[in-house]
Amino acid sequence: MLTRSSLGVSLGNLLSWVYPEKCRECDVPIHALKSSDHAVVLNRFFCRDCWEKIEGIGGRCCPVCSHPFQSGAALSHSPDHVCGDCRRDPPCFTLALTPYRYEGALIKAIQLFKYEEQVVLAKPLADLLIGALRGLKIDLVMGVPLHPTRLRSRSFNQSVLLAKKLALHFSWPLYVDVMYRTRETLSQVGLSKKARQKNMRGVFSVQRQERISGQCVLLVDDVYTTGATLKEGAKTLKKAGAKEVFVAAPVRMLFGI
Ligand SMILES: [Zn+2]
Ligand SMILES: [Zn+2]
Repeated sequence: MLTRSSLGVSLGNLLSWVYPEKCRECDVPIHALKSSDHAVVLNRFFCRDCWEKIEGIGGRCCPVCSHPFQSGAALSHSPDHVCGDCRRDPPCFTLALTPYRYEGALIKAIQLFKYEEQVVLAKPLADLLIGALRGLKIDLVMGVPLHPTRLRSRSFNQSVLLAKKLALHFSWPLYVDVMYRTRETLSQVGLSKKARQKNMRGVFSVQRQERISGQCVLLVDDVYTTGATLKEGAKTLKKAGAKEVFVAAPVRMLFGI
């Protein structure tokens, strides 16, 4: 006969693996989100309060890189006013779409997704981009490539997983082997903006250029930090003949806001 304790241990372990009892952000016991597919996935990790607190980047933004302006004054005089960064060093992309702040539960969600192999979070994270991407004319989508050595150690490319979800949603072709990394780079974490740019210079290359020639490409990353990676990717794609490059990441780190 199964005793409560013999059953309890195995079932308890199983349930706590599938549904951890505490929210990864605030540590309180998890209460159910509204019952959608998302809710089931998110409730493995986050309580309703923490997930509902995630914040979009609102207000007036640079029309190129989407960095929010501290005040809307410049835009009220000139609606096309671009930020200082984009004026000094114009990116090769047409527009960056980075709808959410890298804060609160989204920091944890990215960590779980990227470093703890919780690939089930790809869908809710990619879905954060859907509203921002709706209406764009895109011919093909790709994720920022990883170097094969990094790919082997991580076993998956988080940017490609996001790109794949978007490709499925919008019925865009997904290209996974057109752009690749020519060398390994230092981790960008902790590097200054200048060092990040230098670290990324010339890191991508394109094979079979005819596949992107004249196309509108969407390049996807998991987090937009200084934009160094996506800028370098867009530059490479434009050089290889892409007509336009849009870049996107569900979350963005904000500096000086
Ligand atoms: Zn919570
Ligand atoms: Zn800008």
